[in-house]
Amino acid sequence: MVHNETQNNDFETFKSTSTKSSNTTYFDPKQATKYLIGADGLSAEEMMDSRKNGGLTYNDFLILPGYIDFPASEVSLESRITRNIVLKTPFMSSPMDTVTETDMAINMALLGGVGVIHSNCSPDEQADMVRKVKKFENGFITDPVCLTPNHTVADVRRIKAQFGYSGIPITANGKLYSILLGIVTARDIQFHEDDTTLLKDVMTTDLVVAQEGVTLDEANQILRSSKRGKLPIVNSRGELVSLLARSDLLKNLNFPLASKSPHSKQLICAAAVGTRSDDKLRLRKLVDAGLDIVVLDSSQGNSLFQIEMIKYIKKTYGDNLDIIAGNVVTREQAASLIEAGADALRVGMGSGSICITQEIMSVGRPQGSAVYKVAQFADQFDIPVIADGGIQNVGHITKALALGASAVMMGSLLAGTTESPGEYFYHEGQRLKKYRGMGSLDAMERHATQGTSGKSNDNNAAKRYFSERDVVKVAQGVAGAVVDKGSIRKFVPYLISGLQHGLQDIGAKNLKRLRDDVKGDKIRFELRTASAQIEGGVHGLYS
Ligand code: GDP
Ligand code: 5GP
Repeated sequence: MVHNETQNNDFETFKSTSTKSSNTTYFDPKQATKYLIGADGLSAEEMMDSRKNGGLTYNDFLILPGYIDFPASEVSLESRITRNIVLKTPFMSSPMDTVTETDMAINMALLGGVGVIHSNCSPDEQADMVRKVKKFENGFITDPVCLTPNHTVADVRRIKAQFGYSGIPITANGKLYSILLGIVTARDIQFHEDDTTLLKDVMTTDLVVAQEGVTLDEANQILRSSKRGKLPIVNSRGELVSLLARSDLLKNLNFPLASKSPHSKQLICAAAVGTRSDDKLRLRKLVDAGLDIVVLDSSQGNSLFQIEMIKYIKKTYGDNLDIIAGNVVTREQAASLIEAGADALRVGMGSGSICITQEIMSVGRPQGSAVYKVAQFADQFDIPVIADGGIQNVGHITKALALGASAVMMGSLLAGTTESPGEYFYHEGQRLKKYRGMGSLDAMERHATQGTSGKSNDNNAAKRYFSERDVVKVAQGVAGAVVDKGSIRKFVPYLISGLQHGLQDIGAKNLKRLRDDVKGDKIRFELRTASAQIEGGVHGLYS
């Protein structure tokens, strides 16, 4: 309990009544905080004693409120989600083919989190998605797509359709490090009807350029004052060396929390791979596309396959690629993966909204206990853990972080948003999108993705459940639909604000403080009986 001058002053308003009434002695109310003997509620350790309390889920407990002396908007949600990567918000989207493809990954990163692109598609399709995320926002675009003056308007339209931009520098041989001759922008071709026109006849040649060696800040300043859409950077011979886009300046203003690699300023991108030997080739393609974090996607991570894969990745890519290993729910599983070289652990088995692992396999652990036990163990080695699955509302996020997680991974909460893959459809007047477990028969046997790719025969979903060679597949997940939730551009800011208010109520101004105060037994918990859970939900309303 925190108490200070301000709080003591509040007691001025108290009119001290009698200090003695018949045979009862009362203490001085002005000194009430001195009489806090022993701690209220339970420490996390006491609460998570499974011998006494069994395994707990997020709904089984509450966090007791602390002392507020700061506004919610000042709560920092910055968190280190792997050994080397820090995000401004502790949110990740699940590697599921109804949750994370290009659009989700871009928007999660813009909003301060990170999206994990699923692998239930061909390696090329997955690498293509990673590439699009990495290319979305840049400081200097160091490999801009260029064309020659003899290319046509149709070529620019093709690039626009494929990559989403039409600001194309025109160089003598259509490559970087060749003399810059002009630039074609959307405006040059917008109303141009003849697709066969050569670019030399439409390109802008009155160029504003900056010289190689210019800093990003200086270049941004030139871009601002030039009022142009693009700023080509040239060397002393007039050859194009890179490009800067005005739209990136605006994105920086609109998305101050964006997760970016410190050096390239590109959005951070994560992707899932399996743990079989053909996944090594997949990973190579993803790394070539600019991948920052690889998630080893397995429902039970403590396997020979995964340990060997971690060692292989560390040997091949060193510290250039952070590994999130998993999934695990026990200290023993965690120990194997930490020893092999994992940079973070993903925690959860059977807690996801579409999972039936606990019922079918009889294996798993209630998510609250899983997160606490693994995080407590991993903390000794400074390895962050990610609470994956079972997040149904913003309160669950606060609880997962209080139990030691550095981030939460969400599937169902983000499914059904504008940015999730798949088309909306109507059923009984509701606008819905499909959401399916990667261990559902639908996903394991599928031969066409839901989302943008739609054509591959690769199926990594079955491998996640060690089922790729099974003749009879046993489902560990289900397929269904979720209602339209609108855009994550509104939903994630809601999660951010909800989490800030939760932390404010607890009295923790940042996530480190939250974790430290839980470790130091300062933040206290209470178990919730079944009726307490009913009381905590909406009840007693007529409509
Ligand atoms: P444009 O005006 O049609 O070129 O498109 P915008 O400037 O609005 O957006 C282009 C986005 O794509 C920016 O965020 C760029 O950083 C990014 N980008 C990545 N690679 C390239 C590239 O090779 N050329 C261009 N023009 N943009 C790229
Ligand atoms: P949700 O946020 O919907 O509660 O859970 C999403 C998480 O469930 C995913 O990140 C993943 O770890 C897990 N998951 C996805 N599909 C399946 C499945 O079919 N079976 C099981 N057991 N877990 C799944």
